[in-house]
Amino acid sequence: MAYPKEFYQKAQEILDQRRAKAQNIAAQHRAELYSAMPELEKLERDLSATGLAAAQAALAGGPQLDKVIENLKNKNLALQRRREELLQQAGFPKDFLQERYTCPICQDTGVVEQRPCQCFTELLRKLAYEKLSDTSGIDGCRFDNFQLRYYPDTPTGRFNIIPRQAMAKVLSFCQNYAAHFSLASESLLLCGGTGLGKTHLSLSIAYEVTKQGFGVVYTPSHRLLDKLQTQQFSRRETGDDDYQSVAMDCDLLIIDDLGAEFSTNFTVAALYSLINGRLNEGRPTIISTNYDETILRERYGDRILSRLLCAYRPLQFYGEDIRMLKRLNG
Ligand SMILES: [Zn+2]
Repeated sequence: MAYPKEFYQKAQEILDQRRAKAQNIAAQHRAELYSAMPELEKLERDLSATGLAAAQAALAGGPQLDKVIENLKNKNLALQRRREELLQQAGFPKDFLQERYTCPICQDTGVVEQRPCQCFTELLRKLAYEKLSDTSGIDGCRFDNFQLRYYPDTPTGRFNIIPRQAMAKVLSFCQNYAAHFSLASESLLLCGGTGLGKTHLSLSIAYEVTKQGFGVVYTPSHRLLDKLQTQQFSRRETGDDDYQSVAMDCDLLIIDDLGAEFSTNFTVAALYSLINGRLNEGRPTIISTNYDETILRERYGDRILSRLLCAYRPLQFYGEDIRMLKRLNG
């Protein structure tokens, strides 16, 4: 997945801060302990000296080189052991004076063997996700706190559907979808009235799929379309803030509450190009909406509707407005 340039800069800044922080903390620990335990400071000086001596010996060469290096190495190890001993006797962890990097693999440089470290790639993903996502609700929404007890267990409506049973199936489908998510997963259309848990399950899917390392963007539709519109009218040549490509390229795009935004010719065109583009590229999308077919057709036209109806798997939500029930029942 390609990211806007600013994400690379931001990710590097975060790594620089992590690295500086780890080094500052280690320096602070050294300053504190050296004044209390002078032997430690001497050990540290001796350790640097053996390192320097090894480098000088290697440069000078000579027939005894291997032996000299071996001796210095042993001396170095002995000094390190003594340092660990002193620290542990004083009640500190033996690596107390060493930098504790967030990523021990690249020591927070973001580079391993001249390639981007995994932590750098993860940061990029997270930044892209945050930039376009509204993650304000994600912390509370998990599959395991989705409460089926709020859904009636008596048959309702024309088809005598029992909401609790129907929603147990929806929940289990979503759990399965998230657990086995891949770029070959199908796109979903979550339909049903307000307060039936569509956002809760969308965010639960987002949480699980993100945890597996996929680039997920979750966004309410009004937020996405606002951003695309703002970008359209203030496009900078640098290619920064390229929401269109973030929304197009992420592994899973979740558009919540389609229909709640103010639709214009621009938003309809932008939405069509996203929906169609992602279908063509074979990237899964999840869209949720409170509106029925008739209203969606009125707002977005036949082109979008036929894509949604033909290429998305519909998941119907049943029940009564949970938010209202929760409020009434305390
Ligand atoms: Zn790393």
